[in-house]
Amino acid sequence: MSMTFGCTNYRLMASEIPSIVPGGAPTSIAALMVHDEIIAEGQASSSKNAKVKASSNAVKMLGNMMPIEYRMLYGCSCDGEEKQWVGKDGNGVGMVGTAI
Ligand SMILES: [Zn+2]
Repeated sequence: MSMTFGCTNYRLMASEIPSIVPGGAPTSIAALMVHDEIIAEGQASSSKNAKVKASSNAVKMLGNMMPIEYRMLYGCSCDGEEKQWVGKDGNGVGMVGTAI
């Protein structure tokens, strides 16, 4: 996945949970962490799909967020975020914080 904010401190993890029903299919749960905080989760029958769900949940959640909001919310101080944000969309949203 790609983080819109150019944040480099994120992890996408998944773990499989055995079914509580004997013979049932296991469930995979994935979590996206930024700066040691879980921001989105996803559940599916395979860890790959669970990761995809967690990623798309994160994108939905962060889609309308300004880089400066993201940084304040998650204590993010990774370098070059605004530049990447502007370069990616080119729509001016990244003007916030460009003086940093
Ligand atoms: Zn960061």
